[in-house]
Amino acid sequence: MDRAACAGMADKGDFRKNGDPFYPSSAAPEAAREGKRICATCPVLAECYAHSLDASSSRQYGTFGGLSEEERRTRQRLKQRAEANERRRKAKAA
Ligand code: SF4
Repeated sequence: MDRAACAGMADKGDFRKNGDPFYPSSAAPEAAREGKRICATCPVLAECYAHSLDASSSRQYGTFGGLSEEERRTRQRLKQRAEANERRRKAKAA
C-alpha cells in the first residue's frame, strides 16, 4: 500500500516519544486519536479495513482502516447479527 497515509511513518522515530498511533497503549489516548486522524486522510482506507478483517492478517491488532481493533470487532458482530436476522426473516417468509 504505497499510497497509504501512514507509509514511512514508522521510520520517523517519534512514535516512542508520543506513543505509536497505530498500536496505542491505553495510557496514550492521544496517540490513538492521532492514528485515526491519519487514517481519515488515507486514500486506501477501505482496502486497509478489508485487509484488517482477514484472520491471517497482521493487521488484526491496533488501529487500521480508521478503527481500533475493538471497534472493528464490534462492527463485525453487528454485521453478522444483521445478516443472521436477514436469513431468519427470509426463512420465515419462504
Ligand atoms: S487506513 Fe490503513 S493504510 Fe491508511 S493510514 Fe490507516 S492504517 Fe495506514
